[in-house]
Amino acid sequence: MNPLRSLAALSAALCVLLSLPARADLRVVATLPDLAALAKAVGGDHVQVTALALSTQDPHFVDAKPNLALELNRADMLLAIGLELEVGWLPTLQNGARNPRILINGAGYLDVSQFVQKLEVPAVPMDRSNGDVHPGGNPHFLYDPRAGLAVAKGIAERMITLDAKNADAYRANLARFTDEMQKAMGGWQKRLEGLKGQPVIAYHRTTAYLSNWLGFEVFAYLEPKPGIPPTPAHVVEVLAQGRQRKARLLLQEEYYPSTTSKLVSQKIPTPLVLMPGGTNFRAGETYLQHIEDVVKRLEKGLQGKGT
Ligand SMILES: [Zn+2]
Repeated sequence: MNPLRSLAALSAALCVLLSLPARADLRVVATLPDLAALAKAVGGDHVQVTALALSTQDPHFVDAKPNLALELNRADMLLAIGLELEVGWLPTLQNGARNPRILINGAGYLDVSQFVQKLEVPAVPMDRSNGDVHPGGNPHFLYDPRAGLAVAKGIAERMITLDAKNADAYRANLARFTDEMQKAMGGWQKRLEGLKGQPVIAYHRTTAYLSNWLGFEVFAYLEPKPGIPPTPAHVVEVLAQGRQRKARLLLQEEYYPSTTSKLVSQKIPTPLVLMPGGTNFRAGETYLQHIEDVVKRLEKGLQGKGT
């Protein structure tokens, strides 16, 4: 056989073997894994989605490493939670990315808090001198699947604007996702009916939307102010309140140190439920599976089993 021809055949075979999926129509970067999961649900095969925060990271404090700026340099779309959740680290990355598409006024930048009915919006303007107060309202809304649905719809609209040729696919994906979520929500609410009206302690103010959805009452926080770690005097106060109110659960995200929560949980006593936050995702986990995980943890807590 002609060596040149066999070489050509070999390289053709290699091309088939190595054939990678066609380049995604949209490269999407989301600040947090839960937001990335929503983008994947809507974008399906037409998008390549990455999250900036790692599964172990506190979303308020992500390291603005150079590799993340590189990720943003290639992005067609940047999804942020907004309400200043990412204010400590995202602007640095945006400025370092050299990509006008994903700057605040760029066509690819989407602050998804605009799609959500905001809770805990301070009546008077605040600054950050009192800790991480979330001055525009509470940003931890993706714990509530109703907010997840509203955000998915907003993401679909922007994907359609940026990539009109796949509009039908984005619409169909959104419709399927909405349908699956609505079916699941009925079951979740039923399983957590026992939480309604129950007194609960939380570590950080991550629970606003979750308690609004499920009807439990958060009467105390281990952080004296959002973003300020527990102080001994404050812990003593929460402990007394927890005993007096007979706290049903103590909720804390996995990315916070758990020593104080464990102590308080034992002393009240009340089950400590470790929550995944918006970052703790298994590889390939969907948003629906993520909320299922949240529900499962709360359900176990209601049965008296901590995490
Ligand atoms: Zn927060």
